[in-house]
Amino acid sequence: MSTWSGRCHCGALGFEYRTAKPVDEWPVRACQCSFCLKHGGVYTSDPAGSLRFTHRDPAAVSRYRFGQKTADFLFCSRCGGYLGAVTEEDGKLLMVINLRALDPQPDGLPAPQPMSYEGETIGDRNTRRAARWTPSSD
Ligand SMILES: [Zn+2]
Repeated sequence: MSTWSGRCHCGALGFEYRTAKPVDEWPVRACQCSFCLKHGGVYTSDPAGSLRFTHRDPAAVSRYRFGQKTADFLFCSRCGGYLGAVTEEDGKLLMVINLRALDPQPDGLPAPQPMSYEGETIGDRNTRRAARWTPSSD
């Protein structure tokens, strides 16, 4: 496993992402929904990896929900930094990280793959996230 650190711009919020996958095998997903296009969000996750929050100031977490409201999109309320999205499945937190938040940026990332999840039912969505997203180790 290697550990990758991410943070918002001001450093109030952060996470550690652990994965055994080499960077050139990471899935890199560019979601084409209107929210992700506005933020230029590109995401990765590893269901065999883990995610831990390392917030210096947890009070700075700002959450946004839209559409089917099945996930929270996490921002820093001070600097606007966008960390990724978190959902709860069977009492467990699952997350995708916004690759732009990684610090430093990994070398050798694959090109982002455009993804559209339009037309998914809530059941499809939960199944997809349970299979792909990274479990929280907190
Ligand atoms: Zn911040």
